[in-house]
Amino acid sequence: MHVRTRFAPSPTGPLHLGHAFSALRAHDIAVQLSGEFLLRIEDIDQSRSKPAWEAQIYDDLSWLGLRWPTPVLRQSDRYEAYRAALQELWDRNAIFQCRCNRKDILAAISAPQEGGDLPVGPDGVIYPGTCRKTSSHVKAPSPVDDVALRLDMSKAVRDKSYSFMETGAGPNGETGLIAFDGQEVLRAIGDVVLARRDIGTSYHLSVVLDDAAQAITHVVRGQDLFEATKIHVVLQHLLGLPTPIYHHHRLIRDEAGKRLAKRDDARAILKYREDGVTADQIRAKVGL
Ligand code: GLU
Repeated sequence: MHVRTRFAPSPTGPLHLGHAFSALRAHDIAVQLSGEFLLRIEDIDQSRSKPAWEAQIYDDLSWLGLRWPTPVLRQSDRYEAYRAALQELWDRNAIFQCRCNRKDILAAISAPQEGGDLPVGPDGVIYPGTCRKTSSHVKAPSPVDDVALRLDMSKAVRDKSYSFMETGAGPNGETGLIAFDGQEVLRAIGDVVLARRDIGTSYHLSVVLDDAAQAITHVVRGQDLFEATKIHVVLQHLLGLPTPIYHHHRLIRDEAGKRLAKRDDARAILKYREDGVTADQIRAKVGL
Protein backbone atom coordinates (compact mmCIF):
# COMPACT_ATOMS: atom_id res chain seq x y z
CA MET A 1 0.00 0.00 0.00
CA HIS A 2 1.33 3.45 -0.88
CA VAL A 3 0.63 5.36 2.34
CA ARG A 4 -0.78 8.88 2.05
CA THR A 5 -1.74 11.07 4.97
CA ARG A 6 -3.04 14.61 4.90
CA PHE A 7 -3.48 17.72 6.98
CA ALA A 8 -6.63 19.62 6.03
CA PRO A 9 -6.90 23.01 7.71
CA SER A 10 -9.51 25.67 7.02
CA PRO A 11 -7.98 29.09 6.28
CA THR A 12 -10.26 30.90 8.72
CA GLY A 13 -7.72 31.97 11.31
CA PRO A 14 -4.18 31.42 12.52
CA LEU A 15 -2.87 27.89 13.03
CA HIS A 16 -2.25 27.21 16.71
CA LEU A 17 -0.44 24.54 18.71
CA GLY A 18 -3.29 22.05 18.16
CA HIS A 19 -2.92 22.40 14.40
CA ALA A 20 0.85 22.08 14.66
CA PHE A 21 0.43 18.82 16.57
CA SER A 22 -2.06 17.44 14.02
CA ALA A 23 0.07 18.40 11.02
CA LEU A 24 3.23 16.98 12.62
CA ARG A 25 1.48 13.70 13.52
CA ALA A 26 0.14 13.30 9.97
CA HIS A 27 3.59 14.10 8.60
CA ASP A 28 5.48 11.80 10.99
CA ILE A 29 3.13 8.87 10.37
CA ALA A 30 3.68 9.25 6.60
CA VAL A 31 7.45 9.29 7.13
CA GLN A 32 7.34 6.24 9.47
CA LEU A 33 5.37 4.28 6.88
CA SER A 34 7.53 5.46 3.95
CA GLY A 35 4.54 7.32 2.58
CA GLU A 36 3.59 10.78 1.47
CA PHE A 37 2.20 13.74 3.41
CA LEU A 38 -0.38 15.94 1.65
CA LEU A 39 -1.86 19.31 2.46
CA ARG A 40 -5.44 20.21 1.56
CA ILE A 41 -7.10 23.60 2.03
CA GLU A 42 -10.66 23.21 3.32
CA ASP A 43 -12.17 26.49 2.21
CA ILE A 44 -15.76 25.58 1.32
CA ASP A 45 -16.95 28.32 3.66
CA GLN A 46 -15.87 31.21 1.46
CA SER A 47 -17.39 33.78 3.78
CA ARG A 48 -14.90 32.85 6.51
CA SER A 49 -11.88 31.76 4.43
CA LYS A 50 -9.23 34.39 3.64
CA PRO A 51 -6.27 34.20 1.20
CA ALA A 52 -4.08 35.76 3.90
CA TRP A 53 -4.79 32.86 6.28
CA GLU A 54 -4.04 30.37 3.51
CA ALA A 55 -0.68 32.06 2.87
CA GLN A 56 0.02 31.97 6.60
CA ILE A 57 -0.73 28.22 6.69
CA TYR A 58 1.92 27.55 4.01
CA ASP A 59 4.38 29.77 5.80
CA ASP A 60 3.84 28.26 9.28
CA LEU A 61 3.93 24.66 8.04
CA SER A 62 7.15 25.22 6.04
CA TRP A 63 8.67 26.88 9.09
CA LEU A 64 7.73 23.76 11.10
CA GLY A 65 9.83 21.79 8.60
CA LEU A 66 6.98 20.17 6.65
CA ARG A 67 7.02 19.65 2.87
CA TRP A 68 4.14 18.55 0.64
CA PRO A 69 3.47 18.05 -3.08
CA THR A 70 2.03 20.96 -5.05
CA PRO A 71 -0.37 22.08 -6.38
CA VAL A 72 -2.32 21.86 -3.14
CA LEU A 73 -5.95 20.76 -3.50
CA ARG A 74 -8.42 23.48 -2.53
CA GLN A 75 -12.01 22.52 -1.78
CA SER A 76 -13.23 25.71 -3.46
CA ASP A 77 -12.00 24.17 -6.76
CA ARG A 78 -14.03 21.00 -6.20
CA TYR A 79 -17.66 22.17 -6.35
CA GLU A 80 -18.24 20.21 -9.57
CA ALA A 81 -17.33 16.95 -7.82
CA TYR A 82 -19.53 17.76 -4.81
CA ARG A 83 -22.44 18.68 -7.09
CA ALA A 84 -22.05 15.47 -9.11
CA ALA A 85 -22.19 13.34 -5.95
CA LEU A 86 -25.26 15.21 -4.72
CA GLN A 87 -26.93 14.73 -8.10
CA GLU A 88 -26.21 10.99 -7.93
CA LEU A 89 -27.66 10.75 -4.42
CA TRP A 90 -30.68 12.77 -5.51
CA ASP A 91 -31.27 10.47 -8.47
CA ARG A 92 -31.12 7.52 -6.09
CA ASN A 93 -33.64 9.22 -3.82
CA ALA A 94 -31.13 9.15 -0.95
CA ILE A 95 -31.30 12.86 -0.06
CA PHE A 96 -34.16 15.28 0.45
CA GLN A 97 -34.60 19.04 0.42
CA CYS A 98 -34.92 20.70 3.79
CA ARG A 99 -36.26 24.19 4.41
CA CYS A 100 -36.05 24.15 8.21
CA ASN A 101 -34.00 26.74 10.00
CA ARG A 102 -32.57 26.19 13.46
CA LYS A 103 -35.65 27.66 15.14
CA ASP A 104 -37.98 25.27 13.26
CA ILE A 105 -35.85 22.31 14.28
CA LEU A 106 -35.71 23.28 17.94
CA ALA A 107 -39.47 23.90 17.97
CA ALA A 108 -40.17 20.49 16.43
CA ILE A 109 -37.93 18.76 18.96
CA SER A 110 -38.81 20.60 22.14
CA ALA A 111 -42.52 19.79 21.97
CA PRO A 112 -42.14 16.03 22.59
CA GLN A 113 -38.99 16.56 24.68
CA GLU A 114 -40.75 18.69 27.32
CA GLY A 115 -37.66 20.43 28.59
CA GLY A 116 -35.44 17.34 28.61
CA ASP A 117 -31.97 17.36 27.07
CA LEU A 118 -31.95 17.96 23.34
CA PRO A 119 -30.81 14.94 21.31
CA VAL A 120 -27.39 15.97 20.00
CA GLY A 121 -25.05 13.99 17.72
CA PRO A 122 -21.65 14.69 16.17
CA ASP A 123 -23.34 16.99 13.67
CA GLY A 124 -25.42 18.97 16.18
CA VAL A 125 -29.06 18.56 17.12
CA ILE A 126 -30.56 15.41 15.63
CA TYR A 127 -32.99 16.36 12.90
CA PRO A 128 -36.61 15.50 13.77
CA GLY A 129 -37.44 14.55 10.17
CA THR A 130 -39.88 17.38 9.39
CA CYS A 131 -39.03 17.82 5.68
CA ARG A 132 -38.26 14.13 5.11
CA LYS A 133 -41.90 13.42 5.82
CA THR A 134 -43.28 16.19 3.61
CA SER A 135 -40.77 16.91 0.84
CA SER A 136 -41.70 15.78 -2.62
CA HIS A 137 -39.04 14.35 -4.85
CA VAL A 138 -39.96 16.15 -8.00
CA LYS A 139 -37.20 18.57 -8.86
CA ALA A 140 -33.47 17.99 -9.01
CA PRO A 141 -31.41 20.01 -6.50
CA SER A 142 -29.93 23.17 -7.84
CA PRO A 143 -27.44 25.55 -6.28
CA VAL A 144 -29.89 28.42 -6.64
CA ASP A 145 -32.52 26.75 -4.48
CA ASP A 146 -32.51 28.21 -1.01
CA VAL A 147 -32.65 24.80 0.64
CA ALA A 148 -30.33 22.40 2.40
CA LEU A 149 -29.99 18.79 1.27
CA ARG A 150 -30.11 16.13 3.97
CA LEU A 151 -29.25 12.47 3.82
CA ASP A 152 -32.23 10.20 4.40
CA MET A 153 -30.35 8.19 6.99
CA SER A 154 -32.92 5.45 7.47
CA LYS A 155 -32.74 4.64 3.74
CA ALA A 156 -28.94 4.88 3.75
CA VAL A 157 -28.28 2.52 6.65
CA ARG A 158 -31.29 0.15 6.75
CA ASP A 159 -29.97 -2.84 8.74
CA LYS A 160 -26.34 -2.57 7.61
CA SER A 161 -23.29 -2.88 9.82
CA TYR A 162 -20.12 -0.87 9.41
CA SER A 163 -16.57 -0.80 10.67
CA PHE A 164 -13.31 1.09 10.38
CA MET A 165 -9.78 0.54 11.63
CA GLU A 166 -8.61 2.95 14.33
CA THR A 167 -4.88 3.07 14.96
CA GLY A 168 -5.09 5.99 17.38
CA ALA A 169 -7.93 6.24 19.87
CA GLY A 170 -11.37 7.81 20.28
CA PRO A 171 -12.22 9.99 23.29
CA ASN A 172 -13.05 6.90 25.39
CA GLY A 173 -10.00 4.92 24.35
CA GLU A 174 -11.77 3.19 21.44
CA THR A 175 -9.14 1.56 19.27
CA GLY A 176 -8.63 -1.32 16.81
CA LEU A 177 -11.58 -2.41 14.73
CA ILE A 178 -14.50 -0.08 15.48
CA ALA A 179 -17.82 -1.69 14.58
CA PHE A 180 -21.20 0.01 14.61
CA ASP A 181 -24.57 -0.60 13.04
CA GLY A 182 -27.16 1.32 11.10
CA GLN A 183 -29.58 1.52 14.02
CA GLU A 184 -26.95 3.28 16.13
CA VAL A 185 -26.24 5.78 13.33
CA LEU A 186 -29.94 6.44 12.91
CA ARG A 187 -30.45 7.02 16.63
CA ALA A 188 -27.26 8.96 17.40
CA ILE A 189 -26.72 10.92 14.18
CA GLY A 190 -29.87 11.07 12.03
CA ASP A 191 -30.45 12.92 8.75
CA VAL A 192 -27.22 14.93 8.42
CA VAL A 193 -26.96 17.93 6.11
CA LEU A 194 -24.89 17.07 3.02
CA ALA A 195 -25.32 20.45 1.34
CA ARG A 196 -25.73 23.58 3.41
CA ARG A 197 -27.96 26.18 1.82
CA ASP A 198 -25.21 28.83 1.93
CA ILE A 199 -22.32 26.81 0.49
CA GLY A 200 -23.94 24.01 -1.52
CA THR A 201 -21.88 21.27 0.16
CA SER A 202 -20.82 20.32 3.69
CA TYR A 203 -17.72 19.32 5.60
CA HIS A 204 -18.86 15.67 5.71
CA LEU A 205 -19.52 15.28 1.99
CA SER A 206 -16.44 17.19 0.89
CA VAL A 207 -14.02 15.46 3.23
CA VAL A 208 -15.18 12.01 2.15
CA LEU A 209 -14.99 12.82 -1.57
CA ASP A 210 -11.61 14.53 -1.24
CA ASP A 211 -9.97 11.84 0.88
CA ALA A 212 -11.02 9.35 -1.81
CA ALA A 213 -9.96 11.60 -4.73
CA GLN A 214 -6.54 12.07 -3.15
CA ALA A 215 -6.22 8.35 -2.33
CA ILE A 216 -5.64 9.08 1.34
CA THR A 217 -4.89 5.79 3.13
CA HIS A 218 -4.54 7.15 6.71
CA VAL A 219 -6.72 9.99 7.99
CA VAL A 220 -4.89 11.55 10.94
CA ARG A 221 -6.94 14.08 12.92
CA GLY A 222 -8.19 15.08 16.36
CA GLN A 223 -10.31 12.91 18.66
CA ASP A 224 -13.12 15.45 18.44
CA LEU A 225 -13.92 13.99 15.00
CA PHE A 226 -14.08 10.35 16.13
CA GLU A 227 -17.91 10.17 16.19
CA ALA A 228 -18.15 12.08 12.88
CA THR A 229 -16.10 9.27 11.32
CA LYS A 230 -19.24 7.12 11.50
CA ILE A 231 -20.96 9.60 9.17
CA HIS A 232 -17.98 9.41 6.84
CA VAL A 233 -18.00 5.60 6.76
CA VAL A 234 -21.73 5.57 5.95
CA LEU A 235 -21.09 8.04 3.10
CA GLN A 236 -18.20 5.93 1.78
CA HIS A 237 -20.50 2.89 1.60
CA LEU A 238 -23.22 4.90 -0.07
CA LEU A 239 -20.87 6.38 -2.68
CA GLY A 240 -18.83 3.22 -3.30
CA LEU A 241 -15.62 4.75 -1.91
CA PRO A 242 -12.90 2.98 0.10
CA THR A 243 -12.70 3.52 3.87
CA PRO A 244 -9.21 4.68 4.88
CA ILE A 245 -7.53 3.76 8.14
CA TYR A 246 -8.25 6.38 10.83
CA HIS A 247 -5.87 7.69 13.43
CA HIS A 248 -7.54 10.03 15.92
CA HIS A 249 -5.05 11.75 18.18
CA ARG A 250 -5.28 13.49 21.54
CA LEU A 251 -6.21 17.16 21.61
CA ILE A 252 -3.93 19.94 22.73
CA ARG A 253 -5.55 21.79 25.62
CA ASP A 254 -4.88 25.01 27.51
CA GLU A 255 -4.00 25.15 31.21
CA ALA A 256 -7.71 24.99 32.11
CA GLY A 257 -8.09 21.77 30.08
CA LYS A 258 -10.04 23.46 27.30
CA ARG A 259 -9.37 22.48 23.70
CA LEU A 260 -7.59 25.22 21.76
CA ALA A 261 -9.81 27.15 19.34
CA LYS A 262 -9.04 29.43 16.41
CA ARG A 263 -9.50 32.46 18.66
CA ASP A 264 -6.68 31.29 20.96
CA ASP A 265 -4.35 33.69 19.23
CA ALA A 266 -1.97 33.56 22.17
CA ARG A 267 -1.05 30.05 21.06
CA ALA A 268 -0.85 30.88 17.37
CA ILE A 269 2.27 29.45 15.75
CA LEU A 270 2.96 32.91 14.34
CA LYS A 271 3.05 34.37 17.84
CA TYR A 272 5.58 31.77 18.99
CA ARG A 273 7.67 32.47 15.89
CA GLU A 274 7.66 36.19 16.64
CA ASP A 275 8.76 35.40 20.19
CA GLY A 276 11.80 33.51 18.84
CA VAL A 277 10.59 29.97 19.63
CA THR A 278 12.10 27.30 17.31
CA ALA A 279 10.28 24.56 15.41
CA ASP A 280 11.93 21.95 17.66
CA GLN A 281 10.62 23.78 20.70
CA ILE A 282 7.09 23.67 19.22
CA ARG A 283 7.49 19.90 18.79
CA ALA A 284 8.55 19.63 22.43
CA LYS A 285 5.67 21.83 23.59
CA VAL A 286 3.12 19.46 22.04
CA GLY A 287 4.90 16.39 23.36
CA LEU A 288 6.55 15.15 20.16
N1 GLU B 1 -11.00 21.21 7.98
C1 GLU B 1 -11.27 20.29 9.05
C2 GLU B 1 -10.81 20.91 10.36
O1 GLU B 1 -9.99 21.84 10.32
C3 GLU B 1 -10.53 19.00 8.79
C4 GLU B 1 -10.97 17.88 9.62
C5 GLU B 1 -10.41 16.55 9.11
O2 GLU B 1 -9.18 16.39 9.21
O3 GLU B 1 -11.17 15.74 8.62
O4 GLU B 1 -11.29 20.55 11.41
